[in-house]
Amino acid sequence: MANIVAIVGRPNVGKSTLFNRLVEERKAIEDNLSGVTRDRHYGHAQWNGKFFSVIDTGGYVTGSDDVFEAEIRKQVKLAVEEADVILFVTDCHDGLTDLDKEFANELRTTQKPIYIVANKADSADKALMASEFYALGISDYEIYPIAATSGSGTGELLDQVVTHFEESGEEDPDAGIPKISILGRPNVGKSSFLNALLGKERSIVTDEAGTTRDAIHTRYKLFGQDFIITDTAGIRKKAKVKEDIEFYSVMRSLRTLEESDVVIIMVDASRGLESQDINLISLAIKNNKGVMIMVNKWDLIEKDHKTMNKFKDQMLEKLGEHKWIPIIFTSVTEKQRIFQAIELAVKVYENKNRRIPTSKLNDVMLPEIENYPPPAWKGKYIKIKYVTQLPTKNPVFAFFCNLPQYIKNPYTRFLENRLRENFDFEGVPVKIVYKNK
Ligand code: GDP
Ligand code: GDP
Repeated sequence: MANIVAIVGRPNVGKSTLFNRLVEERKAIEDNLSGVTRDRHYGHAQWNGKFFSVIDTGGYVTGSDDVFEAEIRKQVKLAVEEADVILFVTDCHDGLTDLDKEFANELRTTQKPIYIVANKADSADKALMASEFYALGISDYEIYPIAATSGSGTGELLDQVVTHFEESGEEDPDAGIPKISILGRPNVGKSSFLNALLGKERSIVTDEAGTTRDAIHTRYKLFGQDFIITDTAGIRKKAKVKEDIEFYSVMRSLRTLEESDVVIIMVDASRGLESQDINLISLAIKNNKGVMIMVNKWDLIEKDHKTMNKFKDQMLEKLGEHKWIPIIFTSVTEKQRIFQAIELAVKVYENKNRRIPTSKLNDVMLPEIENYPPPAWKGKYIKIKYVTQLPTKNPVFAFFCNLPQYIKNPYTRFLENRLRENFDFEGVPVKIVYKNK
């Protein structure tokens, strides 16, 4: 199960500050991954060994202080639908306001655990104010006074929040089976793909706007290959609610991503890679998922023997540093390369789980480094002594060196490229960290 925490509350109570504090630790690692766009609305966090995603509705909720606008209402609702735990942030300086009550009313019907977070409890007397928020009557739990700016109180809060989450590494009968999901804009052919592949009508979606459904995992075996499709067919219907598209696609994609190992980003050949696709790709990378691009409706393209390469080049250009994302051209209606698409997804999954023995890694990488050492910085020589792959779920390589802080992004890219040339990590985000030795 995905673990998602949504931070809600009226403007200016400190939602974004809290968000930044929660996702802080991850950022440090992400900084080493060059070229990944960061988004301030969602991020990863970890507490007591449990991982979860955090959604900050603050980035979206920009309404004025005294109006509870329809838009805000919708967005909060959506966040709440997606979340497993809700943090309702209030402000000890202001005390209980009418707008807090209105927000609380929006949450009253949810069955999900809600924690009232009394923020800006910078001092003991401010913390005393916290008890007045019990009057909101929406939470079964203790109120947590915190100061998001200093982090005080957040530990106690998180201790409780993570009790709602499964241990990572729980026993899973499907462990080791790739979970694949298909994301993409409406009408690119996602449902047709599933139908073609799995050979039965699977459109079990209501047309009603606003209908949500949790992701459904279905396990398949095709040509001896086991895999699980995380079905998100409900998503595109909901995307028809026009004004929600951006927010909505982030939310839903987040859940889908959380629940898959490999994401197939499906695009329409006649439209190419669009900005929304790029957003999905960077979301997938940020979530450490395997990624591939499936260019569908290839039958509609007039082509000669050069067309495919031309298309590929254009896409790679748009992918910038992420040229390691594989691209496959398909026609679902002509049944062209559709099983190969699944095979590719399974291969990406295998790459994601690839572990390179330390001796092999050093045999290959140390000579590369010797040929092209990190540039000296202010007369100081940087010496990388050895490298090892960390025992993490996704490929992370730790390079041990004397002055980690002086290694710059271009060199990190160099190392990443050498790793990718020597070992197959096609479709998989690779992280590089430096450690002092
Ligand atoms: P949001 O609109 O709910 O996302 O609120 P922000 O995170 O942008 O914070 C609004 C203001 O409150 C900012 O000026 C923050 O610096 C301030 N703030 C946030 N947390 C605290 C806190 O714990 N104590 C104090 N005194 N101010 C805080
Ligand atoms: P979804 O919204 O991504 O699930 O897209 P659908 O599977 O509903 O497909 C949208 C439309 O594109 C339907 O009319 C499909 O028949 C059509 N379509 C799907 N795949 C292909 C393809 O490979 N070639 C062509 N020409 N049309 C396709």
